[in-house]
Amino acid sequence: MQGLMQDVPLTLSLIFHRAEQLWPTKQLVTATTTGKVRTTYGDWAGRVRRLAGALDDLGVSEAGRVGTFAWNTANHLEVYYAAPCSGRVLHTLNPRLFAEQITYIANHAEDEVVFVDRSLVPTLWPLVDQLTTVRAYVVFDDDPAVELPDDPRLVGYEELLAAASPASVDRVTDEGRAAAMCYTSGTTGNPKGVVYSHRSQVLHAMATLAVDCLGVRESDVVLPVVPMFHANSWGLCQSGPLAGASFVFPGRDLSPTAVADLIVDEGVTLAAGVPTVWLAAVPALEGRDTSRLRAVLCGGSAVPRALAETYRTRFGTTITQAWGMTETSPIATSAFVRSEHAEADEEVKADLRATQGLPVPLLEVRIAEPDTGDVLPWDGKVTGEVQVRAAWAARSYYDDDRSAESFTADGWLRTGDVASIAPDGYVRLVDRTKDLIKSGGEWISSVELENELMAHPKIREAAVVGVAHERWQERPLACVVPEPGQSLTEGEVLDFLAPKVARWWLPDRVVFIDEVPRTSVGKFSKKTLRDRFADVLVSPTSEGE
Ligand code: ADP
Repeated sequence: MQGLMQDVPLTLSLIFHRAEQLWPTKQLVTATTTGKVRTTYGDWAGRVRRLAGALDDLGVSEAGRVGTFAWNTANHLEVYYAAPCSGRVLHTLNPRLFAEQITYIANHAEDEVVFVDRSLVPTLWPLVDQLTTVRAYVVFDDDPAVELPDDPRLVGYEELLAAASPASVDRVTDEGRAAAMCYTSGTTGNPKGVVYSHRSQVLHAMATLAVDCLGVRESDVVLPVVPMFHANSWGLCQSGPLAGASFVFPGRDLSPTAVADLIVDEGVTLAAGVPTVWLAAVPALEGRDTSRLRAVLCGGSAVPRALAETYRTRFGTTITQAWGMTETSPIATSAFVRSEHAEADEEVKADLRATQGLPVPLLEVRIAEPDTGDVLPWDGKVTGEVQVRAAWAARSYYDDDRSAESFTADGWLRTGDVASIAPDGYVRLVDRTKDLIKSGGEWISSVELENELMAHPKIREAAVVGVAHERWQERPLACVVPEPGQSLTEGEVLDFLAPKVARWWLPDRVVFIDEVPRTSVGKFSKKTLRDRFADVLVSPTSEGE
């Protein structure tokens, strides 16, 4: 017997209409170099309809890829809806990638048009002759001071909209149709394309609305510092309009002062960004009125326990850690304190918040032996590769023959992350498969060592990598950035670690560096550190002495 319920396709048009109808006066604020621009969902909705018409005028084909090369702005949010709701596919390009990667991605996705911030035209323009499928570049005027090349392929965004008529934003009836694409930055080889469907984005938005997940709500003022070009801005551009939250878009200035000013001046209640953003923002927030900031969403890399505690004790704000990846839309787990621990002391709660958390509703996780695929128990001890199944997890990459290695025979996504899962569901990531340190056949978790190191009051940041060792194949090396004005010795660092970790986990060396190198999306670039210090244990007089 079949259910007798309506078969309503889950498309982004549902979110668009809800925002247009229910929240027309809610604010969308964008910070620009010349001041803040304030619009509303009502205004936004009218522009989305015109933009749908403009995409027709530009001749963008049905299902044509609409690239964006832009910071977080209300204009960007217009493309986020006009493209998919008019049947096209939004493709967010990451301006921080290397030129060859950007070229590869735009050509592989076959972008037909690219919407670009004026401030980013100088980054994109040297590549245009290699972008073989793009016919037009539409410029968001985020900085009038930036000179534009005199080229007929460049079109002004406002002129384009002014000349267009509103068009239908209800063109998608098949919820399985592609809505958006995002390429994973790919630390090795070319980036891989993840293709979200309307259905996956709507379901992901619904799941993240749960209060024990991101819990975005109508009364929120959301500041997405996490870029709209990176892992889909954690779905906030769907969950925000669905819930009715206002937005504060930071534009291109993501400096700690700019972020802190927006939080304080705009009464931000919910902010989202990677740990480095929140670490850097601490001094800028100190002593200011952060009373409206109820939660900070943090993920993309492990959230140091000490960082979350700083926000809790100094600003009265909970840092909610979430784990996920581009392939999981991206939210897969979120770390909230289960009610049975509500009365536990703060130390216990801090430990739970420092895990990656529980799987979000409707998403399943398991851990498996990477080589055999054997599924491992949830005992909080055994570690294995994390695998995921959900309506918003990828089942394949776009036109990529490397797909097979990332999915199991029974269709689960192999994340490449290594974790244990406690009997009550807390996932604790110990590493990425490629960052694990294997010493004499035993694994050492760089993430755990980093967490311990970053709790030292004189340590600003620390990254631990495995480097070659004659006897043990690999041993841990701690790369430490001291707090400004502080000096530390290797012995001091090791003494601090000694009572906290197993003896054989203690790094063989501690080197002091000015900053931890980052990837294009702001994560620790462990590969750079491994290359830089490759010989440090073999020839102990090399760099970092
Ligand atoms: P990439 O960084 O490879 O470009 P993503 O941005 O999709 O791709 O990052 C996904 C990866 O980031 C995860 O597989 C995991 O290794 C790491 N990550 C994300 N969130 C967390 C977290 N809360 N704790 C630890 N690692 C995380």
